[in-house]
Amino acid sequence: MQIPILDLKAQYDTCRDEVVRAITGVCESQAFALGPAVAEFEQKVAEYCACKHAIGVSSGTDALLVSLMALDIAPGDQVITTPFSFFATAGSIARLGAKPVFVDVDPHSYNIDPDRIEQRITEKTKAIMPVHVFGQMAQMKPITEIARRHNIAVIEDAAQAIGASQNGTKAGAFGHCGCFSFYPSKNLSAFGDGGLVVTNSDALADKIKILRNHGQNPPYFYGIIGGNFRLDSIQAAVLTVKLNYLDKWNEKRRRHAALYDKIFADSPLKPPKVEPNNLSIYHQYTVTASDRDQLQKFLTENKISSAVFYPKPLHLQDCFADLGYREGDLPVAEKLCTEVLSLPIYPELTAEQVEYVAKTALEFYGSD
Ligand SMILES: *Cc1c(COP(=O)(O)O)cnc(C)c1O
Repeated sequence: MQIPILDLKAQYDTCRDEVVRAITGVCESQAFALGPAVAEFEQKVAEYCACKHAIGVSSGTDALLVSLMALDIAPGDQVITTPFSFFATAGSIARLGAKPVFVDVDPHSYNIDPDRIEQRITEKTKAIMPVHVFGQMAQMKPITEIARRHNIAVIEDAAQAIGASQNGTKAGAFGHCGCFSFYPSKNLSAFGDGGLVVTNSDALADKIKILRNHGQNPPYFYGIIGGNFRLDSIQAAVLTVKLNYLDKWNEKRRRHAALYDKIFADSPLKPPKVEPNNLSIYHQYTVTASDRDQLQKFLTENKISSAVFYPKPLHLQDCFADLGYREGDLPVAEKLCTEVLSLPIYPELTAEQVEYVAKTALEFYGSD
């Protein structure tokens, strides 16, 4: 049995007619830039996340960048974040000349450890950017309390977490800004790049709308410097269709995760731990394993794809050498990078396939 890490064709098969109709609708209208399709998608996401505003942008990376710009993050400022994330989290901070300040993660949820944040706050700290890694939210109550105490902003990197919630509140709704990505591998995925910012602040929403269109307001007059961060109408039309399926897809991922959890209980593979106040959308199902690289090789030999997210923590990347971090500075994240392995979890998998992946993985340890 051959099992890929993701099967976008299988998803396309479940919504092809609707998606093609939606794309054709945009073609017929010829309204490609910030047309009615974008406005409709924004309204649907705002409702879905129970946030006042949603602003479609060109990618998850640009959602982070434009949020930081809207909050006036500038050279010399510091932004606290996690070293265990996709590059764009820290990249967007550094691109504005600000300094990412990395705080170690919790070994079970893989998310930023709130207890380690406050000791890294200085007079230059302007924001905290938690990441809801693999679809499980970082603990937002302590994070927002610290931010309030120090009068700094919170930007949620919710690129992997649309539909996740904590105590019933959706990812993206806790911070000043919540940032989503619709990159093809994400739980809600476009036919190309796309992103979105949610916020409950009228002022931030207005500013982000201006920034995503070069800073122009009114047309051809520029009070601030923005960029082209617009969401494509065709992508918005695709995403509006797929948003209707998202909860069902996420529920299927949770079912697969529960099956993996059951099979991996008391085994050499440690399942991810979801905290009791969290509803995860399992963007990834990521275990920790000894002999990780050998296990991955064994799975590949058995035609099962898996992935290492992430092989190297952000604080040790060459491009951040100037920040002065050394190996051993953030030991939890560093160790995770040697142990994590993400297994196939996409909704269209069957229970038999999940079982096959899990049992094959345990076979590697000779404990099946
Ligand atoms: C995917 C991702 C991004 C970037 O999103 P793009 O749409 O690819 O630009 C940012 N942060 C995290 C945590 C991501 O997973």
